Amino acid sequence: MTFTKEFESRVEKTIAKYKLLSKKDKIVVACSGGKDSTAALYILHKLGYNVEGLLIDLLIGEWSKIARRNIEGFCEKEGIKLHIVNLREEMGGSMCYLRSNIQSKVNLNNCTICGIFKRWILNKYARELGFDKIATGHNIDDEAENVMMNMFRSTFSLAAGMGPTAGTQEHKGFVTRVKPLYDCLNSEVRKYTEMKNFEIEYAPCPCSVDVMRMNVRKMLSELEQDNFELKRNIVNSFTKILPAVREKYKKRGDEGIRYCEHCGEPTVEKVCQTCKLLKLVATEKVS
Ligand code: AMP
Ligand code: ZN
Repeated sequence: MTFTKEFESRVEKTIAKYKLLSKKDKIVVACSGGKDSTAALYILHKLGYNVEGLLIDLLIGEWSKIARRNIEGFCEKEGIKLHIVNLREEMGGSMCYLRSNIQSKVNLNNCTICGIFKRWILNKYARELGFDKIATGHNIDDEAENVMMNMFRSTFSLAAGMGPTAGTQEHKGFVTRVKPLYDCLNSEVRKYTEMKNFEIEYAPCPCSVDVMRMNVRKMLSELEQDNFELKRNIVNSFTKILPAVREKYKKRGDEGIRYCEHCGEPTVEKVCQTCKLLKLVATEKVS
């Protein structure tokens, strides 16, 4: 079997193994314009799933413009519907503008702030547009890094929300997030998209400066030299203990969930994290 066929069939097996998706589901792929989510979108579409894409235009200068152009061209060529959410229209500014305002008041790293906004937008749009599942491009490397980082930071309770099906809360306000590339290495995804000649921006986000993540990534890649299966072993070990981790930390059903006083989105606190951050930004949208 050729590499591309084997790769696609591995994604199909992952979906079946973890029961990620059904052919009846209306699925939205969270598209960054990068290789992982583009590969996920392409393969799900090829396998006959009912998929559409959603890009949040973060307005991070030229990098976002290229990402947007690439995914727009890709979806047009493949005949896949693409939704685009403009961050300025949604939240009153570009990611750099929002972030610098927030960081002048609180000490949060770039990826944390971006992740909070992206999750909020994705969930809200997916639910309002009637999607049953959100598929992301997370691969083995992302998951292995997250497992190790939660250990190093002693935040293993957060790991309850990881795994092939993400999210700690079952609640009608939250759309289930799934990771079809859960058994694919970063290097394999790159090989796949290169062999497929997809128009992809391979440069990482210019704002992703999480020092801890970079150190963990470097460490895992060094250790991987002597053990090709290292990252897969970390993830496989993690998925074996995941039911116990969830048992310990996961809330049941809609336990503790209420609606944000400000935006009405589901949250565990009176005001959701997104609204708390937006309150720190001096925009007209947030009073
Ligand atoms: P990241 O948070 O950048 O590590 O990306 C993780 C996953 O989130 C990607 O594989 C995508 O599925 C999704 N994602 C990242 N950036 C965007 C974006 N700008 N718009 C929509 N989805 C995104
Ligand atoms: Zn809110």
